[in-house]
Amino acid sequence: MNFWSRLFGSAKPDEGSSAAPTASSVSADWKRADCGFCGQRRIEWDQSAPYPYTVWKCSCGAIGSGAWLPDLDEVGDQLLVILGINTRVSEPCVPTDEPAISMQRYDVNKVEHDMAEILKRYGHEFRITPGNNHNERLFWARRIMKGVTDHERTA
Ligand SMILES: [Zn+2]
Repeated sequence: MNFWSRLFGSAKPDEGSSAAPTASSVSADWKRADCGFCGQRRIEWDQSAPYPYTVWKCSCGAIGSGAWLPDLDEVGDQLLVILGINTRVSEPCVPTDEPAISMQRYDVNKVEHDMAEILKRYGHEFRITPGNNHNERLFWARRIMKGVTDHERTA
């Protein structure tokens, strides 16, 4: 039917057990990622998604996006936009004495905590998977499965 069904219809040798135990969940070029929910491996990025950070859409309904740590609050915001949730996790800029400089407070742990809370409130689960190094992470969200919401999923 479309690109995704073709992709997921293909055989995937070496799935699961043979992978390195602490492998990155994303390819070095950030074109392919492993689903944070169902474990689907190396999903190709959604090139049609008009967003600044790479987006992956898994056949299980999960949507992922990621970046390095300083951008993860904006990745979180982007994920909320994609899901149609009208709230943000990025911190507003804090004014400083120097008008030309606006300090942005940033706490990735708070962002991740807030993401989990917000998504739960809106009926989604939140998961985090590792990037290629400790400075990179992927955020995943998936609607908690209910039959009535299946038609909303964008496969
Ligand atoms: Zn999945």
